Amino acid sequence: MGKTDILGLLPDELSDFLVSIGEPKYRGAQLYGWLMKGREIGEMTNLPASLREKLAEHAEMRLPKVERKLVSKLDGTVKYLFRLIDGECVESVVMRYEHGISICISSEVGCPMGCVFCASTIGGKVRNLTASEMLGQIVAASRDIGERISNVVMMGIGEPLDNYDNTVRFLRLVNEEKGLGIGYRHISLSTCGVVPMIDRLREENIPITLSVSLHAAEDEARSAIMPINRRYPLGELMPACRRYFDGSGRRISFEYTLIRGKNDSEKNADTLVQLLRKYFSDKGKLLPLHVNLIPVNEVKERDFSRSDKAAVDNFARFLNSKGVNATVRRRLGSDINASCGQLRRESQR
Ligand code: SAH
Repeated sequence: MGKTDILGLLPDELSDFLVSIGEPKYRGAQLYGWLMKGREIGEMTNLPASLREKLAEHAEMRLPKVERKLVSKLDGTVKYLFRLIDGECVESVVMRYEHGISICISSEVGCPMGCVFCASTIGGKVRNLTASEMLGQIVAASRDIGERISNVVMMGIGEPLDNYDNTVRFLRLVNEEKGLGIGYRHISLSTCGVVPMIDRLREENIPITLSVSLHAAEDEARSAIMPINRRYPLGELMPACRRYFDGSGRRISFEYTLIRGKNDSEKNADTLVQLLRKYFSDKGKLLPLHVNLIPVNEVKERDFSRSDKAAVDNFARFLNSKGVNATVRRRLGSDINASCGQLRRESQR
């Protein structure tokens, strides 16, 4: 019998596991408390030695280990390269905001989606992360900084909806009130637009914020930078987003990466407004939604440059003047190159 990955269990499942190895159920609460603090079995000092021995024999913990850590001198952003149980690495970024501490986590080792501006997908996908490895990034980072993390964004390496079952399990783990207790409203999931999985997620009734990576508002342009668009073009993606909004009541956040000369003109902004109006209007009025503009992070291996500040400001102003709520993403950790995918690439070289 293989070892049980106890970091990936909900409290009741952990108690059942303890019973299955001949231990009393009530030890579950103690053990769970240690797990959520990111402790190793050897550190669980209030558990009897006999139990710790049994755990060493029957359990494993897929808690990521800090392999590298970069701290921004500008704003305190912390970027981690985490090593996983099999030696693979992923990245997480901890950001400090007025409303609390936020972590951006990875959902896969590498990514199969092939977006042309993205560093994470170079080299393709190696494997899914388990739910415990996603949770473990939060637990390990929180232990490292010694503070509670209150917000989670799934915007690191990987496509969460390509790793659907583990992602949904992770969402339930992170929300568990006896554990980290992070409310669904404090969690965002970003997807490139895997349409059937957006519908499945809606049916789970997990009221997280869905972020959809749009980056272009016409099929030809979007297919040129995001291969997923050939499978699920805008005519399928946008209605799925609308169904998600109607079903969950949660405002969707559309991400739009600004690439110089590619998608950052006023005409592009106008096309975006038309697209949003087409699918997100009710009786002629635009429904609540948000556009998050991200000046592209220049990736060494990729041949893209970021739009200049005037083009970014102009794009945002145009959207807002048409009643589309748009903000430009603040760039945190610019001195440590905090955007994802690049540290892992470096570590592979
Ligand atoms: N697979 C998910 C999460 C990816 S990362 C998704 O596609 O949404 C989160 C966001 O960063 C996505 O919108 C992604 O398109 C964007 N992104 C990727 N590479 C980028 C880069 N070099 N500069 C700016 N944004 C980038």
